[in-house]
Amino acid sequence: MTFDYDLFIIGGGSGGVRAARVAAETGARVALAEESRYGGTCVIRGCVPKKLMVFASEFPGEMQTAKAYGWTVHAGGFDWPAFRTQLHAELDRLEGVYRKLLKNSGVATYDAHARLSDAHTVTLSSGESFSAKHILIATGGAPVRPDLPGAEHGIVSDDIFQFETLPRSILIIGGGYIACEFACILNGLGVEVTQYYRGAQILRGFDDEARGLVSEEMIESGIDLKLGTNILSITPEDGGYVVKPTHGDEKQFDSVFFATGRKPNSEGLGLEGLGVGIGRGAQIEVSEYSQTAVPSIYAIGDVTDRANLTPVAIREGMAFVETVFKGNPTPVDHHLIPTAIFTQPEIGTIGLSEEAARDIEPIEVYCTSFKPMKSNFAGSVDRVLMKLVVSQADRRVLGCHIVAPGAGEMIQMAGIAIKMGATKEDFDRVCAVHPTISEELVTMKTPVRTT
Ligand code: NDP
Repeated sequence: MTFDYDLFIIGGGSGGVRAARVAAETGARVALAEESRYGGTCVIRGCVPKKLMVFASEFPGEMQTAKAYGWTVHAGGFDWPAFRTQLHAELDRLEGVYRKLLKNSGVATYDAHARLSDAHTVTLSSGESFSAKHILIATGGAPVRPDLPGAEHGIVSDDIFQFETLPRSILIIGGGYIACEFACILNGLGVEVTQYYRGAQILRGFDDEARGLVSEEMIESGIDLKLGTNILSITPEDGGYVVKPTHGDEKQFDSVFFATGRKPNSEGLGLEGLGVGIGRGAQIEVSEYSQTAVPSIYAIGDVTDRANLTPVAIREGMAFVETVFKGNPTPVDHHLIPTAIFTQPEIGTIGLSEEAARDIEPIEVYCTSFKPMKSNFAGSVDRVLMKLVVSQADRRVLGCHIVAPGAGEMIQMAGIAIKMGATKEDFDRVCAVHPTISEELVTMKTPVRTT
């Protein structure tokens, strides 16, 4: 049977675009459909605009520090519309880069919604239909709102980048990556931030000491963080929103932001009835080769809800091409993925938390927390944390947790050693770079705990 394309990809985010390009490089005839903007969540409404907002929000702190270093700093305001214009111009530029990359790779693109009519046929909202030998679903995920009265009045992370004016006050619901990052960003930009998290401590699943320090620093920086608190309802009133919390009195905010998780975009693709497995969380079920139960249909990235991170989606896309178009079956390695949470201070982390590791085997914990030179000089009480979780049996570093400015950059480097299986003694053999924060990673001599 001849097909219109060797590969039809649904979704033009990080994973889909990378898979399209590398598949096309093998000589395959590739098409890609995207119903929204090229670049997907990461480029258009996630990592990239978020990181630019992180940079914008760090300046007030930097200016305070500059004063202590002898600079005369003139007070000024933050011009959100000016920043937003610049931000959107940058996103437009990046979207153009993504389109160009696809064009230059010879990938046919369709600006349309796509759904599967059968295991080898994609039908577009334009009415066109194409047959393909392989179909790759890379449709990502979307933010979810909880089911409660007035939830429709709350915004989600997609909406943050579209604010006409910054709200004076905001309530952020949730304690995950997005809630904590935006609590810090908006606080830095001068918004009065309240954060409600239903659990006992934010950033569930991360190392307890690391999340404890970030939580303290967020409160210290002015975020009104209420733990063990959720909301029952939202009611619009006087141009704002009155929120009924599970504890305490009703309060009014200019804006309410749900950062309560994301859901895979697996609906509306025509998968029902084709035999593709869909999990309880709406994720497309795939093998280690990203293949669904229907042999011609594959899925990568957030729609599969494995590790919802851009670089992971990209790797899944490349492993798919390696497997299907290069005859080299390549499972995706989801073990030891370094990640950063761009709170202020940042968390950089890889491997097991102390709590997870001690449930598995006897460990040693090396940890230090101190005031870093730069901000200490400026009179700040901010602390950083460097932590290594080490196997007693084979001395391998099982986990590394850093809370510090630049922790994301540091964990990328430490991650190489840890992924290679470095032991504590390997770390110790490396000479310190002085004076830096990260030198502590190679100078911690005595375990603080052995469990
Ligand atoms: P997360 O799953 O990280 O966090 C969701 C938060 O919402 C949790 O604190 C959860 O609480 C809470 N929550 C869920 N349902 C409700 C509810 N009904 N009422 C109140 N609270 C609720 O999701 P995010 O949306 O923050 O991020 C999604 C994913 O995107 C991340 O897991 C990450 O993989 C990725 N991401 C990565 C970033 C990075 O690399 N820096 C940045 C942003 C996102 P509980 O803990 O109790 O379940």
